[in-house]
Amino acid sequence: MKTIFEKNNELNGINFFDEDIETKNIDFIDKKYLRKNNIGLPQTNELEVLRHYKKLSDLNFCIEKGFYPLGSCTMKYNPKVNEKLANLENFLNLHPYLKDEDVQGALELMYNLQEALKTITGMDAVSLQPAAGAHGEFSGMMIVKKYFELKGENRKKVIIPDSAHGTNPASANMAGFEIIQVKSNDKGQVDINSLKELLNEDVAAIMMTNPNTLGIFEENVLEISDLMHKNGSLLYYDGANFNAIMGYTNPKLMGFDIVHLNLHKTFATPHGGGGPGAGPIAVVKELENLLPAPIVQFDGENYHRNYNIENSIGSVKSYFGNFGVMIRAYTYILMMGKYLKNVSEHAVLNANYLKEKLKNYYNLPYNEPCMHEFVLSGEKQKETGVSTLNIAKRMMDKGIHPPTIYFPLIVHEAIMIEPTETECKNVLDEFIQIMIKITEEIDKNKEIVLSAPNNTPVKKVDETLAARKPDLKLKTEEI
Ligand SMILES: *Cc1c(COP(=O)(O)O)cnc(C)c1O
Repeated sequence: MKTIFEKNNELNGINFFDEDIETKNIDFIDKKYLRKNNIGLPQTNELEVLRHYKKLSDLNFCIEKGFYPLGSCTMKYNPKVNEKLANLENFLNLHPYLKDEDVQGALELMYNLQEALKTITGMDAVSLQPAAGAHGEFSGMMIVKKYFELKGENRKKVIIPDSAHGTNPASANMAGFEIIQVKSNDKGQVDINSLKELLNEDVAAIMMTNPNTLGIFEENVLEISDLMHKNGSLLYYDGANFNAIMGYTNPKLMGFDIVHLNLHKTFATPHGGGGPGAGPIAVVKELENLLPAPIVQFDGENYHRNYNIENSIGSVKSYFGNFGVMIRAYTYILMMGKYLKNVSEHAVLNANYLKEKLKNYYNLPYNEPCMHEFVLSGEKQKETGVSTLNIAKRMMDKGIHPPTIYFPLIVHEAIMIEPTETECKNVLDEFIQIMIKITEEIDKNKEIVLSAPNNTPVKKVDETLAARKPDLKLKTEEI
């Protein structure tokens, strides 16, 4: 497919760039800074621009096109009604510099969302400011740091399980901590004895995901929180995939002190492509005064943004966070009400259904009841020369977005599947059939799997070359 720049010459557009453009009023700019040549922007008409980008967007895969079981990413369907509400003109046209008294409605929404997230997490205070999951983690780690600074303790280490999401060590490291890895046991859970060996007065915190990235609930979480607190350390909960436990339990009950949520996974904001998200953090009472400012408060009559938080780590983002994402989350929570519990119920049921149906065809390294996701291994298939990567590419031929692969790192040839609560049984059954069909192809017609993807707009690419020297034009020539 041609780029819009190449189309430029073929289309009858409008010339926005008059050669005789007046330059006398820019005399104040030194000549050496003036552009010598035409800027080369496409000069196509509106309809051609529309068609070009529509065709390009048709090449993308999205949840509206098919099943998207990308483990740990919760690529679920987000109701369009929440999108619509976020686009109400009175929300859309607000400016962050408006005075509190002029935006009482918006502040009320933020306040109510803070309250709802307190209930959902069991925590005592919430800041909506962080813009993403990793940003919430980083803010949480800054809170840990400041907490110990204020106590006059010099704790430098953060313990993170070997199954953790990559953002966990990255965030802790950026906040200035040294990372200590704790091993998983043969049940895919934190190995308590290894953890005990790592504990000393240098340890500031542990960062955990529960259920962890294997989709397994950490049964010893209460013992872990007890051990950590006795060691004077804090517990951080990565709540990115909250649809695993919502309404059934919460991080407070498990003994955690800080948690972040991904509003763009669990709470109705579509994600992918780096679009705006939100990673609010919630903390226990003792850490309330360290939260990033502002927090929205209510004095019984009016709502206001409080920037005066005693020991706040400061602001971590401009203004107060991504308001549009908050509207989607808040309206979704109101819409679901007590049925939020069913979200988790269905997410867990769907994952277990797939796991049980697929475990006879692919290795299941941790044969335990799972939560919202589970991890298979393509090791058996690898013996025949077909890798997990080949299997993933073959799924694309069949109209499915591949699951997360080669993560978590502790599973060889990992295939991490998260169906989410929004898929119905037909879709799951179709997926099972496809996964089984691929194993049959590996037995009988391996070539078709090895050459995959065969039916997608972009065929098999040299992965290394594609990453190092992306040449989008060349590879999509045939379209
Ligand atoms: C998605 C995810 C994150 C990171 O969230 P971002 O919004 O992408 O920064 C962190 N932890 C887990 C377990 C996740 O699934």
